[in-house]
Amino acid sequence: MIEIKGLAKSYGDRRVLKQVDLSVRAGEFLVVLGPSGAGKSTLLRCVNGLVKSDRGEIAIDGRTVRTADLGRREERRPTAMIFQHHNLVKRLSVLKNVLVGRMAGMSSLMALFQLFPARDVEQALACLRRVELEHKAQVRGDQISGGEQQRVGIARALAQEPAVILADEPVASLDPKTARIVLGYLKRICKETDIAVICNLHQVDYAVEFGERVVGLSDGAVVFDGPPDRLSTEI
Ligand code: ADP
Ligand code: ADP
Repeated sequence: MIEIKGLAKSYGDRRVLKQVDLSVRAGEFLVVLGPSGAGKSTLLRCVNGLVKSDRGEIAIDGRTVRTADLGRREERRPTAMIFQHHNLVKRLSVLKNVLVGRMAGMSSLMALFQLFPARDVEQALACLRRVELEHKAQVRGDQISGGEQQRVGIARALAQEPAVILADEPVASLDPKTARIVLGYLKRICKETDIAVICNLHQVDYAVEFGERVVGLSDGAVVFDGPPDRLSTEI
């Protein structure tokens, strides 16, 4: 479903991605494991069109990813991002934060000052239900815990109805217990839907625990691709 071929990206003379080939199936939960600076973030940013690669091809459901598509309003983008810092709008309710996801592609937060179609609100609530936070829908974004904020981030990504969710170190700022809860939701949702998840992690223990397939990225190249139980000997 996602086909990455010969992807390369440099910043100046720093080669961040050298030659990345990767295919990801619908509904697959893929962990990209690598130390800080390995190029994980750059990889995700290329996949969602935020960063233009120097070489190579990325296609999602047969459609080539182009950076030029990013600003388009009407078109639903095939990717949704989750970040280390949830990036919730503090002032807004949890529900409205999820609706922001629904409005992705609109050029400004002015979307928030419009009335939302009931259908969108229903859909946003359904996404909150998936992360078991429907009861917090009317609570402000800064009145919930860090783990809950990250779950809202998952709901916001889901609301975009993407083909793939790109999670860039989604649990890096959470304590281990909370991190496991958040990764648990992400993986469960991936299994319950057809949405593929590419999840960047730098902690081997989470990768082993949650990854079905782990891609090891080191110095801009794939150095491992397989089930996590083969990790200890190969990485
Ligand atoms: P990771 O997510 O694995 O930590 P990144 O993709 O963020 O890796 O970064 C890989 C390398 O590319 C790092 O050395 C980083 O400093 C560099 N880098 C990332 N983004 C930029 C940028 N916009 N301009 C210059 N260098 C960058
Ligand atoms: P808070 O959590 O601080 O109460 P809200 O999420 O209720 O904030 O709303 C944030 C801002 O958006 C407020 O200024 C509010 O007046 C405005 N707003 C909220 N809902 C609507 C709406 N349906 N139409 C227009 N403006 C709205």
